[in-house]
Amino acid sequence: MVLECSRGPLREVELPVPEAGPGQALLRVRACGVCRTDLHVVDGELPDPKLPLVPGHQIVGEDVEGGGRLGVPWLGWTCGECRYCRSGRENLCDRARFTGYHLDGGYAEYAVADRRYCFPIPEDYPDAQAAPLLCAGLIGYRSLRLAGDGERLGLYGFGASAHIVAQVARAEGRRVFAFTRKGDDAAQQLALELGAEWAGDALGPAPEELDAAIVFAPSGELVPAGLRAIAKGGTLVCAGIHMSDIPSFPYELLWGERVVRSVANLTRRDGEEFLALAPRVPVRTEVDPFPLERANEALERVRDGEVRGAAVLVP
Ligand SMILES: [Zn+2]
Ligand SMILES: [Zn+2]
Repeated sequence: MVLECSRGPLREVELPVPEAGPGQALLRVRACGVCRTDLHVVDGELPDPKLPLVPGHQIVGEDVEGGGRLGVPWLGWTCGECRYCRSGRENLCDRARFTGYHLDGGYAEYAVADRRYCFPIPEDYPDAQAAPLLCAGLIGYRSLRLAGDGERLGLYGFGASAHIVAQVARAEGRRVFAFTRKGDDAAQQLALELGAEWAGDALGPAPEELDAAIVFAPSGELVPAGLRAIAKGGTLVCAGIHMSDIPSFPYELLWGERVVRSVANLTRRDGEEFLALAPRVPVRTEVDPFPLERANEALERVRDGEVRGAAVLVP
């Protein structure tokens, strides 16, 4: 499924099987998760994608040459030389290339990927259930780490990422509060099933003070809403790659050493840590599978928040 020009839709086309270059793996795609970032790419909210482009950066594939299953995440290549790469922050590499954005991704039957950036898939997970671990899980995990150790955690937007983070946070003994669109009963129900002790309207009052909040939904108005909910010294993490403008807010909301920060991309270390952790929690992913050729429909469902857990394409 190919993006030919910005603002899609994707088109179903026949392409030759890609050839693996030196150091690359050829993968037979078994499943590819659909991420909100894919929508930002398709909608033209992220600048200068490769075109034409095969989107998708949560690939579970069978390693055609080496055997076994490999996972391909968003981070597809880094330079290894810039000040970020040399200081353990390859997620910020100036020249990074991202899967399904600068490099063809997994909305396809075959994909190639640099082996150095792939992860072995934990055995406990079937293909479709493993796919959302590769971005929703990884970015969620990085966001949780950067949110600090606070006990009372608010999750704003309860989609693919939050449904994984909630499980990790609960396993760490934290209390989880889920903030969704007003009246989104399905998301609130899922949150409660996964151990959140409260679920309700993101723009309404929080049931009690929070120590940290992670904003997964791409809506800038959630930043002042989240700041209003967190205690002094609390951290609010913006986990998405794109967000609507943040409305201005009184300094009082930030005062008291509250912190607002973003999370950008992932390092390979995040991937190794999280994929080792996931089976131990154990994280169970809730997936909504779509045949590959229905990628446009899957994207629209993600846009409208109509997916329970994570959407996954299956060729
Ligand atoms: Zn670099
Ligand atoms: Zn993603």
